[in-house]
Amino acid sequence: MLLDQLADRQLVHACLLSGEKGLGKKTLASRMAASLLCESEGRMRPCGACRACAMSANLEHPDMIVIRQGAPLSPDVKKDRATIPVDDIREMIRLCSLRTMGGNARVVLIFDAEKMTPQAQNSLLKTLEEPPENTFILICTDHPDSLLTTVISRCRHIRLRPWPNEYVEKVLRDQHVASERIRDSVRYASGSIGKALELAGDETYWQMRREVLSAFFAGKLRSGILQTSNAWKDRKADAPRMLEILESMVRELLQVRLGGDADTEVPLFPDNWAHFARSAPVERFLFLLDAVSQARKQLQFNVNFQAVLEQLLFAFMGEGSQW
Ligand SMILES: [Zn+2]
Repeated sequence: MLLDQLADRQLVHACLLSGEKGLGKKTLASRMAASLLCESEGRMRPCGACRACAMSANLEHPDMIVIRQGAPLSPDVKKDRATIPVDDIREMIRLCSLRTMGGNARVVLIFDAEKMTPQAQNSLLKTLEEPPENTFILICTDHPDSLLTTVISRCRHIRLRPWPNEYVEKVLRDQHVASERIRDSVRYASGSIGKALELAGDETYWQMRREVLSAFFAGKLRSGILQTSNAWKDRKADAPRMLEILESMVRELLQVRLGGDADTEVPLFPDNWAHFARSAPVERFLFLLDAVSQARKQLQFNVNFQAVLEQLLFAFMGEGSQW
Protein backbone atom coordinates (compact mmCIF):
# COMPACT_ATOMS: atom_id res chain seq x y z
CA MET A 1 0.00 0.00 0.00
CA LEU A 2 2.82 2.36 0.90
CA LEU A 3 4.63 1.57 -2.33
CA ASP A 4 1.50 2.35 -4.30
CA GLN A 5 0.96 5.62 -2.48
CA LEU A 6 4.56 6.55 -3.10
CA ALA A 7 4.38 5.57 -6.76
CA ASP A 8 1.26 7.69 -7.24
CA ARG A 9 2.79 10.51 -5.18
CA GLN A 10 -0.22 10.23 -2.90
CA LEU A 11 1.54 9.85 0.42
CA VAL A 12 0.13 11.87 3.31
CA HIS A 13 2.53 14.60 4.32
CA ALA A 14 3.36 13.24 7.76
CA CYS A 15 3.96 9.64 8.81
CA LEU A 16 4.89 8.27 12.20
CA LEU A 17 6.75 4.95 12.14
CA SER A 18 6.77 3.19 15.49
CA GLY A 19 7.81 -0.19 16.84
CA GLU A 20 10.52 -1.93 18.83
CA LYS A 21 14.16 -1.18 18.23
CA GLY A 22 15.62 -3.02 15.27
CA LEU A 23 12.43 -3.71 13.32
CA GLY A 24 13.51 -1.50 10.43
CA LYS A 25 11.81 1.86 11.03
CA LYS A 26 14.79 3.92 9.89
CA THR A 27 15.40 1.62 6.95
CA LEU A 28 11.79 1.98 5.83
CA ALA A 29 11.75 5.75 6.37
CA SER A 30 14.98 6.14 4.41
CA ARG A 31 13.53 4.10 1.54
CA MET A 32 10.36 6.17 1.58
CA ALA A 33 12.47 9.33 1.48
CA ALA A 34 14.55 7.98 -1.40
CA SER A 35 11.36 7.12 -3.25
CA LEU A 36 9.98 10.64 -2.84
CA LEU A 37 13.23 12.19 -4.07
CA CYS A 38 14.00 9.72 -6.87
CA GLU A 39 14.23 11.31 -10.33
CA SER A 40 13.11 8.26 -12.26
CA GLU A 41 9.88 8.53 -14.24
CA GLY A 42 9.09 4.85 -13.72
CA ARG A 43 6.75 3.43 -11.08
CA MET A 44 9.49 1.61 -9.25
CA ARG A 45 10.99 4.27 -7.07
CA PRO A 46 13.57 4.44 -5.59
CA CYS A 47 15.18 3.24 -8.82
CA GLY A 48 18.57 2.95 -7.16
CA ALA A 49 20.26 4.21 -10.32
CA CYS A 50 19.65 7.96 -10.57
CA ARG A 51 21.71 10.77 -9.11
CA ALA A 52 19.10 11.47 -6.41
CA CYS A 53 19.08 7.81 -5.32
CA ALA A 54 22.86 7.81 -4.99
CA MET A 55 22.67 10.82 -2.65
CA SER A 56 19.69 9.45 -0.74
CA ALA A 57 21.50 6.18 -0.06
CA ASN A 58 23.88 8.04 2.26
CA LEU A 59 21.14 10.34 3.60
CA GLU A 60 23.02 13.13 1.83
CA HIS A 61 20.43 14.42 -0.62
CA PRO A 62 20.30 18.23 -0.33
CA ASP A 63 16.50 18.14 -0.13
CA MET A 64 16.59 15.68 2.74
CA ILE A 65 16.75 17.08 6.26
CA VAL A 66 17.78 14.55 8.88
CA ILE A 67 17.11 15.34 12.53
CA ARG A 68 18.60 13.08 15.17
CA GLN A 69 20.00 13.41 18.65
CA GLY A 70 23.73 14.14 18.68
CA ALA A 71 23.84 15.52 15.12
CA PRO A 72 22.60 19.09 15.51
CA LEU A 73 21.12 20.98 12.58
CA SER A 74 21.46 24.28 14.32
CA PRO A 75 24.93 25.72 15.02
CA ASP A 76 23.66 26.73 18.48
CA VAL A 77 23.19 23.16 19.63
CA LYS A 78 25.98 21.19 21.29
CA LYS A 79 26.69 17.73 19.92
CA ASP A 80 26.50 15.97 23.27
CA ARG A 81 22.98 17.08 24.10
CA ALA A 82 20.86 14.13 25.12
CA THR A 83 17.73 15.60 23.55
CA ILE A 84 16.57 16.98 20.24
CA PRO A 85 16.06 20.62 21.22
CA VAL A 86 13.64 23.15 19.80
CA ASP A 87 16.50 24.91 17.98
CA ASP A 88 16.84 21.92 15.66
CA ILE A 89 13.16 22.07 14.80
CA ARG A 90 13.32 25.83 14.23
CA GLU A 91 16.30 25.35 11.92
CA MET A 92 14.38 22.64 10.05
CA ILE A 93 11.44 25.03 9.60
CA ARG A 94 13.80 27.68 8.25
CA LEU A 95 15.37 25.23 5.80
CA CYS A 96 11.92 24.13 4.67
CA SER A 97 11.06 27.69 3.69
CA LEU A 98 13.91 27.74 1.15
CA ARG A 99 13.60 26.50 -2.43
CA THR A 100 14.42 22.87 -2.98
CA MET A 101 17.58 22.02 -4.93
CA GLY A 102 16.05 19.30 -7.02
CA GLY A 103 12.88 21.30 -7.56
CA ASN A 104 10.89 18.33 -6.33
CA ALA A 105 9.81 17.10 -2.94
CA ARG A 106 11.53 17.84 0.34
CA VAL A 107 11.74 15.17 3.02
CA VAL A 108 12.31 15.67 6.72
CA LEU A 109 13.44 12.56 8.60
CA ILE A 110 13.23 12.66 12.38
CA PHE A 111 14.99 9.68 13.98
CA ASP A 112 14.55 8.77 17.68
CA ALA A 113 11.74 11.31 17.85
CA GLU A 114 11.10 10.51 21.53
CA LYS A 115 14.25 12.54 22.22
CA MET A 116 12.48 15.72 21.16
CA THR A 117 11.83 18.03 24.09
CA PRO A 118 8.16 19.02 24.63
CA GLN A 119 9.08 22.45 23.33
CA ALA A 120 10.53 20.91 20.17
CA GLN A 121 7.41 18.81 19.72
CA ASN A 122 5.18 21.84 20.09
CA SER A 123 7.21 23.67 17.51
CA LEU A 124 6.97 20.68 15.16
CA LEU A 125 3.23 20.63 15.68
CA LYS A 126 2.81 23.89 13.79
CA THR A 127 4.58 22.45 10.77
CA LEU A 128 2.46 19.31 10.96
CA GLU A 129 -0.68 21.44 10.98
CA GLU A 130 0.34 23.59 8.04
CA PRO A 131 3.07 21.78 6.16
CA PRO A 132 4.90 23.60 3.37
CA GLU A 133 3.90 22.38 -0.06
CA ASN A 134 5.54 19.16 -1.24
CA THR A 135 7.18 18.59 2.13
CA PHE A 136 7.00 15.16 3.73
CA ILE A 137 7.83 14.52 7.35
CA LEU A 138 8.74 10.98 8.39
CA ILE A 139 9.04 10.48 12.13
CA CYS A 140 10.58 7.34 13.68
CA THR A 141 10.35 6.32 17.32
CA ASP A 142 10.70 3.27 19.59
CA HIS A 143 8.51 5.02 22.17
CA PRO A 144 5.45 6.68 20.63
CA ASP A 145 4.05 7.12 24.17
CA SER A 146 6.74 9.78 24.73
CA LEU A 147 5.25 11.94 21.97
CA LEU A 148 2.50 14.47 22.46
CA THR A 149 -0.85 13.01 21.45
CA THR A 150 -1.35 16.08 19.28
CA VAL A 151 1.80 15.17 17.32
CA ILE A 152 0.66 11.57 16.90
CA SER A 153 -2.84 12.54 15.83
CA ARG A 154 -1.52 14.67 12.99
CA CYS A 155 0.48 11.83 11.46
CA ARG A 156 -0.46 8.69 9.68
CA HIS A 157 0.67 6.15 12.26
CA ILE A 158 2.43 3.10 10.80
CA ARG A 159 3.18 0.48 13.44
CA LEU A 160 5.92 -1.98 12.56
CA ARG A 161 5.35 -5.47 13.93
CA PRO A 162 7.96 -8.05 14.90
CA TRP A 163 9.18 -10.15 11.97
CA PRO A 164 8.44 -13.87 11.88
CA ASN A 165 11.40 -15.86 13.25
CA GLU A 166 11.83 -17.64 9.90
CA TYR A 167 12.40 -14.32 8.21
CA VAL A 168 14.87 -13.09 10.83
CA GLU A 169 16.69 -16.39 10.40
CA LYS A 170 16.85 -15.89 6.62
CA VAL A 171 18.31 -12.39 7.05
CA LEU A 172 20.99 -13.76 9.38
CA ARG A 173 21.83 -16.51 6.91
CA ASP A 174 22.04 -13.96 4.09
CA GLN A 175 24.41 -11.92 6.23
CA HIS A 176 26.62 -15.00 6.66
CA VAL A 177 26.18 -15.30 10.42
CA ALA A 178 27.80 -18.52 11.70
CA SER A 179 25.13 -21.22 11.63
CA GLU A 180 25.59 -22.30 15.28
CA ARG A 181 24.85 -18.72 16.34
CA ILE A 182 21.72 -18.20 14.22
CA ARG A 183 19.20 -20.21 16.23
CA ASP A 184 19.95 -18.57 19.58
CA SER A 185 20.20 -15.07 18.12
CA VAL A 186 16.76 -15.48 16.56
CA ARG A 187 15.35 -16.93 19.74
CA TYR A 188 16.32 -13.94 21.88
CA ALA A 189 15.66 -11.20 19.34
CA SER A 190 11.84 -11.20 19.63
CA GLY A 191 11.34 -10.58 15.93
CA SER A 192 13.79 -7.68 15.71
CA ILE A 193 16.25 -8.01 12.85
CA GLY A 194 18.49 -5.30 14.28
CA LYS A 195 18.63 -7.01 17.65
CA ALA A 196 19.32 -10.43 16.09
CA LEU A 197 22.22 -9.04 14.08
CA GLU A 198 23.58 -7.23 17.09
CA LEU A 199 23.38 -10.36 19.25
CA ALA A 200 24.91 -12.55 16.58
CA GLY A 201 28.03 -10.42 16.48
CA ASP A 202 28.33 -9.78 20.19
CA GLU A 203 30.62 -12.32 21.87
CA THR A 204 30.36 -10.61 25.27
CA TYR A 205 26.58 -11.12 25.27
CA TRP A 206 26.91 -14.89 24.94
CA GLN A 207 29.63 -14.98 27.54
CA MET A 208 27.38 -13.07 29.95
CA ARG A 209 24.45 -15.41 29.27
CA ARG A 210 26.62 -18.32 30.35
CA GLU A 211 27.69 -16.41 33.47
CA VAL A 212 24.12 -15.44 34.40
CA LEU A 213 22.99 -19.01 33.92
CA SER A 214 25.65 -20.37 36.22
CA ALA A 215 25.22 -17.60 38.83
CA PHE A 216 21.43 -17.72 39.14
CA PHE A 217 20.36 -21.17 38.05
CA ALA A 218 23.19 -23.58 38.85
CA GLY A 219 23.41 -23.29 42.64
CA LYS A 220 20.90 -24.53 45.18
CA LEU A 221 22.82 -23.76 48.32
CA ARG A 222 22.39 -20.45 50.02
CA SER A 223 26.06 -20.57 50.99
CA GLY A 224 26.81 -19.93 47.33
CA ILE A 225 25.17 -16.51 47.46
CA LEU A 226 28.01 -14.67 49.10
CA GLN A 227 30.59 -16.29 46.88
CA THR A 228 28.68 -15.36 43.74
CA SER A 229 27.92 -11.83 44.86
CA ASN A 230 31.59 -11.34 45.66
CA ALA A 231 32.57 -12.49 42.21
CA TRP A 232 30.14 -10.00 40.63
CA LYS A 233 30.41 -7.06 42.98
CA ASP A 234 32.73 -4.97 40.78
CA ARG A 235 30.59 -5.39 37.68
CA LYS A 236 27.94 -2.78 38.33
CA ALA A 237 28.40 -1.49 34.79
CA ASP A 238 27.19 -4.87 33.51
CA ALA A 239 24.07 -4.75 35.67
CA PRO A 240 21.51 -3.47 33.10
CA ARG A 241 22.47 -6.17 30.63
CA MET A 242 22.65 -8.82 33.32
CA LEU A 243 19.11 -8.00 34.45
CA GLU A 244 17.87 -7.98 30.87
CA ILE A 245 19.32 -11.44 30.31
CA LEU A 246 17.96 -12.75 33.59
CA GLU A 247 14.51 -11.45 32.70
CA SER A 248 14.63 -13.05 29.27
CA MET A 249 15.58 -16.37 30.89
CA VAL A 250 12.58 -16.29 33.23
CA ARG A 251 10.35 -15.45 30.27
CA GLU A 252 11.84 -18.34 28.37
CA LEU A 253 10.95 -20.69 31.23
CA LEU A 254 7.49 -19.16 31.49
CA GLN A 255 6.93 -19.86 27.83
CA VAL A 256 7.53 -23.53 28.45
CA ARG A 257 4.97 -23.39 31.24
CA LEU A 258 2.38 -21.58 29.16
CA GLY A 259 3.03 -23.87 26.21
CA GLY A 260 1.70 -26.62 28.46
CA ASP A 261 3.71 -29.28 26.70
CA ALA A 262 5.60 -31.51 29.13
CA ASP A 263 7.98 -32.57 26.38
CA THR A 264 9.12 -29.08 25.43
CA GLU A 265 12.85 -28.95 25.75
CA VAL A 266 14.29 -26.67 28.37
CA PRO A 267 17.74 -26.31 26.90
CA LEU A 268 20.76 -25.46 29.01
CA PHE A 269 18.89 -25.11 32.31
CA PRO A 270 19.64 -27.60 35.13
CA ASP A 271 17.04 -30.29 35.91
CA ASN A 272 15.41 -28.51 38.85
CA TRP A 273 14.72 -25.46 36.70
CA ALA A 274 13.42 -27.63 33.87
CA HIS A 275 11.04 -29.10 36.43
CA PHE A 276 10.12 -25.59 37.59
CA ALA A 277 9.42 -24.57 33.99
CA ARG A 278 6.99 -27.43 33.48
CA SER A 279 5.21 -27.44 36.83
CA ALA A 280 5.50 -24.25 38.87
CA PRO A 281 2.41 -22.08 39.36
CA VAL A 282 2.51 -19.02 37.12
CA GLU A 283 2.73 -16.67 40.10
CA ARG A 284 6.20 -18.07 40.90
CA PHE A 285 7.42 -16.86 37.49
CA LEU A 286 5.85 -13.49 38.16
CA PHE A 287 7.55 -13.41 41.53
CA LEU A 288 10.94 -13.84 39.84
CA LEU A 289 10.17 -11.24 37.17
CA ASP A 290 9.13 -8.88 39.93
CA ALA A 291 12.40 -9.53 41.79
CA VAL A 292 14.29 -8.52 38.64
CA SER A 293 12.32 -5.34 38.17
CA GLN A 294 12.71 -4.46 41.86
CA ALA A 295 16.47 -4.88 41.46
CA ARG A 296 16.41 -2.59 38.44
CA LYS A 297 14.56 0.09 40.41
CA GLN A 298 16.90 -0.20 43.37
CA LEU A 299 19.92 0.26 41.14
CA GLN A 300 18.35 3.37 39.65
CA PHE A 301 18.12 4.70 43.18
CA ASN A 302 21.77 3.82 43.74
CA VAL A 303 21.25 1.07 46.27
CA ASN A 304 24.51 -0.84 46.84
CA PHE A 305 25.00 -3.22 43.91
CA GLN A 306 26.21 -6.15 45.97
CA ALA A 307 23.21 -5.89 48.30
CA VAL A 308 20.82 -5.84 45.35
CA LEU A 309 22.61 -8.80 43.84
CA GLU A 310 22.38 -10.82 47.05
CA GLN A 311 18.67 -10.19 47.33
CA LEU A 312 18.20 -11.33 43.77
CA LEU A 313 20.34 -14.43 44.20
CA PHE A 314 18.40 -15.22 47.35
CA ALA A 315 15.12 -15.10 45.42
CA PHE A 316 16.40 -17.33 42.62
CA MET A 317 18.22 -19.88 44.75
CA GLY A 318 15.28 -20.00 47.15
CA GLU A 319 12.96 -20.80 44.27
CA GLY A 320 15.35 -23.23 42.60
CA SER A 321 15.93 -25.21 45.78
CA GLN A 322 12.23 -26.14 45.93
CA TRP A 323 12.20 -28.01 42.65
ZN1 LIG B 1 16.20 6.99 -8.43
